Amino acid sequence: MLQSTMMDVPLSIPFLLERAKSLFADKKVISYIPVGIDPETKAPIPGRLEETYGQMYDRCHQLMHALAEAGIQPGDRVGTFATNTFRHLELYFAAPSMGAVCHMINIRLPDDQVVYIINHAEDKVLFVDNFLAPRLPAILPKCPTIKLVVIMGAVPALPPGAVDYEAFIAHKATEYTYPEIDERQASGMCYTSGTTGNPKGVLYSHRAIVLHCITAAMGELMGLSEADTVLPIVPMFHVNAWGYPYMCPTVGSNLVFTSMFTDPKFLAKVFADEKVTHTAGVPTIWLGLLDELDRAKQAGAPHNTSSINSLVVGGSAAPRGMIEAFGERHNIHVIHAWGMTETTPLGTMNTLKPAHHHLEKAAKYDQMALTGRPTALVQIKLVDEHDHLLPNDGKTIGRLLVRGPWVTASYYKDEAGTAATQQNGWFDTGDIATINSEGYMLIQDRAKDLIKSGGEWISSVDLENTLMGHPSIREAAVVAVPHPKWDERPLGVIVMREGSSVDKTVLDAYLLEHGFAKWMLPDAYEVVAEIPKTSVGKFLKRALREQFKDYKLI
Ligand code: AMP
Repeated sequence: MLQSTMMDVPLSIPFLLERAKSLFADKKVISYIPVGIDPETKAPIPGRLEETYGQMYDRCHQLMHALAEAGIQPGDRVGTFATNTFRHLELYFAAPSMGAVCHMINIRLPDDQVVYIINHAEDKVLFVDNFLAPRLPAILPKCPTIKLVVIMGAVPALPPGAVDYEAFIAHKATEYTYPEIDERQASGMCYTSGTTGNPKGVLYSHRAIVLHCITAAMGELMGLSEADTVLPIVPMFHVNAWGYPYMCPTVGSNLVFTSMFTDPKFLAKVFADEKVTHTAGVPTIWLGLLDELDRAKQAGAPHNTSSINSLVVGGSAAPRGMIEAFGERHNIHVIHAWGMTETTPLGTMNTLKPAHHHLEKAAKYDQMALTGRPTALVQIKLVDEHDHLLPNDGKTIGRLLVRGPWVTASYYKDEAGTAATQQNGWFDTGDIATINSEGYMLIQDRAKDLIKSGGEWISSVDLENTLMGHPSIREAAVVAVPHPKWDERPLGVIVMREGSSVDKTVLDAYLLEHGFAKWMLPDAYEVVAEIPKTSVGKFLKRALREQFKDYKLI
């Protein structure tokens, strides 16, 4: 083999940090974080803090010194238990740049799972948002590997033995000499949300993060640049906040963080005040925002969202009706994306081909509701139950397999989990999908959520998305309930929009009109006040199946 003449420069996170300082030192990280408690309502009050990438660089270097002095060595896991803030961003860069691993822990998990995750990862230090400090007494005594706790933000009294973040980094030098970094070493870590069994750990590499970052930011995908101000609502404690914390400093976009404040009214105000151009979150966040935008418009005092060029939705299927409503009623362009903890996360994104822009309205929104094409360097394919390749014809349903430089090749210390998902160099996602001839994938379901009726499969996602397009329905989840003759039948669980009502006859007609066969229609509907959600805002189908397991279909 003839070797190239190219330099062998490892891809590493310090490169991104150096770039942010040298090219975009004046660009901003704006954080809305809790700064006090309203004496009357007892609700936290948001304060607005600004940091430049230049300041962030200096503080990251101070943090690396502080961590090294606290005994953190390359390879050690630095736990974060925090929302989206400038301090969390500093940890995203500082921990890996000194050769350690930034382990983001999902704050919405119950204490016992947090304890499991910390112990499994063997975190040495834990950085905690101030408002989460009250949870520590239930967690820390069960986590013997943690030697130090650092609290981010003011607290009335520091927990025993803990230090304040600002005191931790104060007076440290602003130049830290990076160790040599192997691009394949671990830079970060996340655990899957674990709907079944224990959460499973994924270790990201410097190489994966850098390749993901430059690919995701490119014009064909997020299309981010210095002209952008980005508000990722997707949390930094879940799968790298979809890569934005690395992407924005690399391309010079301003970043806006809203920590614990994700109420739609508050978000709408921040979009306007900060002139946000790009934002990203899960469908439940956007369904809430849509309601608020509609409400304000009807009340004659619309929110100003004119700065928004693109709104990315992912994490679970985006209803077509929601994509259309944002486009038609609020002139906001929605981009549908798919990914997983195991894929860093970006796997597919629905950017339109030039010809799609000329489609008539209905066909264009049909196209935009697809889950998208693989991002550069990612490959996807469908297989049947015997692992035979299935055609990309837009109709054939199969198990979705994925491979690429930012797809995990194993789970951390979990041989059984690894063996169950790795297939000859491909990762079995557990998702069921179709892929059309243009390469656009559409998630039909999680394998375990498909409804098997009389030997035929019914896609719960497809039903849910269509139901959520009905003007009376705010949220819809469809689950299988046992049936003596058909094995399983679909049950619709719905949340109505305020002041609306609807019955099964109307919904049947609506679904038939939208192309469903009669045998696919839910046998019944249950109206609920709220659909239970997972720690990252997805419908918790397991809880619904449990709740309705003895449901008697009449
Ligand atoms: P997590 O690892 O918690 O991010 O969950 C990943 C899973 O979320 C995927 O395997 C899918 O089942 C689901 N998911 C993510 N994005 C989408 C999407 N756009 N449409 C449907 N399901 C999605």
